[in-house]
Order: sequence, then C-alpha cells, then structure tokens
Amino acid sequence: MSAVEVKNLSLSYGDIKILENLNFSVPENSFVSIVGPNGAGKTTLMKILLGLIKDYTGEIKIFEKKPDEINPQMIGYVPQIKTMDRNFPALAIELVASGLLRKWPWSVGGKEKDNSLKALSLVKAEHLAYRPLAELSGGELQRVCLARSIVRNPKLVVLDEPATGIDAIGEADLYNLLEKYQQNSKATVLMITHDWHVAHHHSDFVLLLNRKQVSFGSPEDALSEVNLRTAFGHIGHEHKVKIN
Ligand code: ADP
Ligand code: MG
Repeated sequence: MSAVEVKNLSLSYGDIKILENLNFSVPENSFVSIVGPNGAGKTTLMKILLGLIKDYTGEIKIFEKKPDEINPQMIGYVPQIKTMDRNFPALAIELVASGLLRKWPWSVGGKEKDNSLKALSLVKAEHLAYRPLAELSGGELQRVCLARSIVRNPKLVVLDEPATGIDAIGEADLYNLLEKYQQNSKATVLMITHDWHVAHHHSDFVLLLNRKQVSFGSPEDALSEVNLRTAFGHIGHEHKVKIN
C-alpha cells in the first residue's frame, strides 16, 4: 500500500499557480524529503495532504483515503515554528500530552503521563518532561514537538522545516533521531526542507519541487546537478559539497 499517492495535483491562488501537476507515490515505511526553495509550494503541499486546504484539483490518497476522510490519529504533524512565546507558562510533558487530548492538559497523569513519557523517551527527551518550555533550547523544543506528533503512534509523520532555529549540532541530532524513529516505528516520515544535503543524506525518496515537480525518486536521481539547477536556479553557493 502507498502511504501517499498524488495524481495531477494542482493548486492556484487567484491567477497564480502555486502547484502545477504533481505526480508521485510514497511507499509505506519510508523517509521522504520534500525539497525546494522558499516559495516553492512545500508548505502548501503539506497543508493539502493534511486536509487543511481543499480547493486543489487532482487526486490524493493517504493510505487509500482522501485527506479529509482519514482518521486524524493516523497522522502526526510538526508545523514550522516561526515564533513562539517563550514565556508561555507550561511544561514539556503538557505539550506532549496535548497531542493525546487535543486540549490543554492542566495536569498530566495516568495513561496520558505514561504515553507522553514514552513518546519523549523515543526522541531521547524524557529528561525534559518537567522542564518549562520557556527554558528549552530550540533543538530541545523541537524534540518535544516531535514527541507530541508521535504520541498516538501515527502511521504518517509530517514535519515542516523541523530544523528552523536550531544550531548545527541540535540539527544533526534531530535528523538522526528522526531517521531512527522512522526505522523503528515503520511509520512513513514526510519532511520538508530547503537543505538538499540533509535530504540526500537521510531520505529513501526525494520530491524536488519549485511549483512544478522537478523530480521524484531516489536521492541520487532526484537531486542530480541538473535537477538542482532547475529547482534552485543554481547549486553550490555557501556549500561546496559535491552531490554525486
Ligand atoms: P514554501 O513552503 O515552499 O516556502 P509556500 O507553500 O508557503 O512555499 O508558499 C508558496 C507560495 O504561495 C508563496 O509565494 C506564498 O506567498 C503563496 N501563498 C501561500 N499561502 C497563500 C495564501 N493563503 N494566499 C495567497 N498566496 C499564498
Ligand atoms: Mg514553507
């Protein structure tokens, strides 16, 4: 069974085409990166897959169901964190448990506590459970958000630029954790990133996107030099790493 199946997907805002004729199929139990420059339509695609944007054309199946028919428990979601009020008075475990209860848990006990601690331990963050969110580093906060997204054992985990605001070491840790989680849980992971080096290193499949689908396939095939030039208009700049 495919985790995600997309056929002839297009979306416009007014006269502006944001996504144009996307076609790809994500096998179950795989790690997939969606790569493209700013404004490429990555977040828009993710919102369509999550059932948050409905006025697309084409056909989408998530585990054989339309996005708005799927049981929300099957999908974990880590939105892009742009700003968060760091003085928000809450503990890490409360944020994780809110993923179980879909409301703010004013105290976390019993089964919710056990499951929240288990999710935190899966992302090596059990020690953060009773720390105030305001005290966490960017990398720690992102791990807590990841724990929240997996607390219901979803079959699909979707992350939008999870490394935003994290230092380089925290970033490498996060990707390694995510890769291990994917392998152990057999969930399918769909991660948005503008960093093709990260995608190349961690993914089974890559979708390279700039409004139009540039490529979909193995990292080696999808991120060829010619494809990267098509998607980004250039390759290299500050990174001088050879891709293949
Ligand atoms: P990415 O995540 O790849 O940076 P987005 O999917 O966020 O790209 O956005 C793609 C384009 O669509 C951008 O030019 C953005 O300004 C535009 N866009 C996003 N949401 C809306 C909206 N609700 N109305 C109009 N334009 C939008
Ligand atoms: Mg985005």
